[in-house]
Amino acid sequence: MPAARDPVTAYVALGANLGDAPAAVRGAMQALHDAPGTRVSARSSLYRTAPIDAGGPDYVNAVVQLSTRLPAPGLLDLLQKIERAAGRERPYHHAPRTLDLDLLLYGDARIDSPRLTVPHPRMGGRAFVLRPLAEIDASLVAPEALAAVAEQRIERMR
Ligand code: AMP
Repeated sequence: MPAARDPVTAYVALGANLGDAPAAVRGAMQALHDAPGTRVSARSSLYRTAPIDAGGPDYVNAVVQLSTRLPAPGLLDLLQKIERAAGRERPYHHAPRTLDLDLLLYGDARIDSPRLTVPHPRMGGRAFVLRPLAEIDASLVAPEALAAVAEQRIERMR
């Protein structure tokens, strides 16, 4: 039998702004933890954030650290399956969404394929990604990057 591939540390951003958004984010964290070959090894607090380039109510955002044996495309498949299960509809670009899952980092891989760009191209410049990511691992976010998004409205939820 071939040896199972070594686990990779990956980071996923979660966001929701329709319905019971905190429940959607927590449910997605649980679904990731329960998926074969993947477990959640750290999770940030939930944050309430102002929509950026998007309409609708405030978002609930968080970041999780995963330990996964899935290859990056397989992990993207899993994220999209969890999004679909949450009933995400995409009537138009930047439409409000039940659940949005983005792969931020996959080990130290650099991926540029038609389906997948890693590190995620829009993770810099967004407080709703950088703040929860820094909560999990401060070494991943430069202080200057956090300072640059200090004006964006974001509050940690209790
Ligand atoms: P979004 O509107 O942010 O959910 O974008 C989803 C699309 O982005 C899908 O078609 C993915 O194939 C593509 N995509 C490219 N890179 C990534 C990534 N790092 N994480 C999630 N989706 C990605």
